[in-house]
Amino acid sequence: SRAKVVVIGGGYGGATAAKYVRLLSDHKIDVVLIEPDEAFVSCPLSNLVLGGSKQMADITTPYSGLSKNHGITVVRDRASAIDTAKKTVTLAGGPVIGYDKLVVSPGVELLFGSIEGLQAANASGQILQAWKAGPETEALRKQLQAMPDGGVYAITIPEAPYRCPPGPYERACQVAWYFKNAKPRSKVIILDANQDVTSKGPLFKKVWAEQYAGIIEYRAQHKAVAVDAKAGLIKFDIQDDLKANVINALPSMRAGAIAVQAGLNNQANKSWCGVNYLTFESTAARDVHVLGDSIQIAPGMPKSGHMANNHGKVAAAAIVAQLSGWEVNPAPMLANTCYSFVDNRSVVHVASVHEYVAAEKTFKTVAGSGGLSPGPTELEGVYALNWAQNIWADTLT
Ligand code: FAD
Repeated sequence: SRAKVVVIGGGYGGATAAKYVRLLSDHKIDVVLIEPDEAFVSCPLSNLVLGGSKQMADITTPYSGLSKNHGITVVRDRASAIDTAKKTVTLAGGPVIGYDKLVVSPGVELLFGSIEGLQAANASGQILQAWKAGPETEALRKQLQAMPDGGVYAITIPEAPYRCPPGPYERACQVAWYFKNAKPRSKVIILDANQDVTSKGPLFKKVWAEQYAGIIEYRAQHKAVAVDAKAGLIKFDIQDDLKANVINALPSMRAGAIAVQAGLNNQANKSWCGVNYLTFESTAARDVHVLGDSIQIAPGMPKSGHMANNHGKVAAAAIVAQLSGWEVNPAPMLANTCYSFVDNRSVVHVASVHEYVAAEKTFKTVAGSGGLSPGPTELEGVYALNWAQNIWADTLT
């Protein structure tokens, strides 16, 4: 009988793996993709929706390309349980699906409990995260539009590692760009639990000083511990409370809930899922491959969509090889580019290449690869938009 691969999560990791298992097996392996959302909404470029220069439709791609072009069975449901002994996945809607190989790429779970009061404030819609692009992205945009000129938008950043290291700083730029044009007396305050800017530090600081002086204020080593939505207050472990009109509090993160439920989170205080980097097979369960933001990363590997897409290809090749009795590629390579829009057009980037080092069973950054761009340019803005179109096509069509 035909081999069957089940994929949980149609994001950058899962959708890529689903498509590439079909391509690399010459359509001989059946693939079922389980995803609750109707369409793919990209986190990359979603900060531009907050800034107002892009709309939700610009970052949304239907899943129909995967079924029509690649014969993947896309099931619109949520995986509610994994039985790694019986090799089955139970869907919230009831059905139980068996697998030969399982791919788990559910993104991150936001740990609301890490900031007191945040769970309730999120449930009531008062304090949003928008750290998975979708309805919250639109809702946060509305909060910014409703804010009076002279108001304060505050974003809190948890200790690394979290999804998308430069994401919060890019978001601060986008909100500041909007304020500069629409409500110039307003302020953006970045409250960072880390020692310093986690990604592209010199580039962001230059932009903040040159383009957004008097609008963006950056405060390092400010760890948010509580929020009071009614009073509009953020409380810290050490410093005085801060009042803001729009609070965008990002709590700590860990592997997506279904990965935790299945016991795949065996690293870093049960935060992330350990994998064999040659195949992305879980170190906690056989024939289960974990991708994307949920994994314990090797040093220098960011939690990014570009990386998750690369994980998807390495895992797909390994899965097809294992199911076909072929040798697994002994030397996979990963690459990463993260572009950040500092306004509606100009962009900075960080890039890197990572090679599998067999002797140490890990990925290492290739010396001299990548690095930071010299400064924001509009040409890089063109590259960034094309990067998005290309990775969406590669992942979803
Ligand atoms: P996701 O892409 O989030 O996919 C996970 C999917 O799993 C989701 O569709 C979810 O609905 C589904 N899912 C979850 N649980 C279940 C379940 N139980 N059953 C079925 N399905 C489930 N990366 C870049 O490379 N470049 C950028 O410019 C960039 N900008 C970003 C900006 C922002 C504001 C943010 C928040 C992130 C950004 N990222 C960027 C990071 C990037 O979005 C993530 O690293 C990437 O999405 C990780 O892919 P993933 O497959 O792990 O998770």
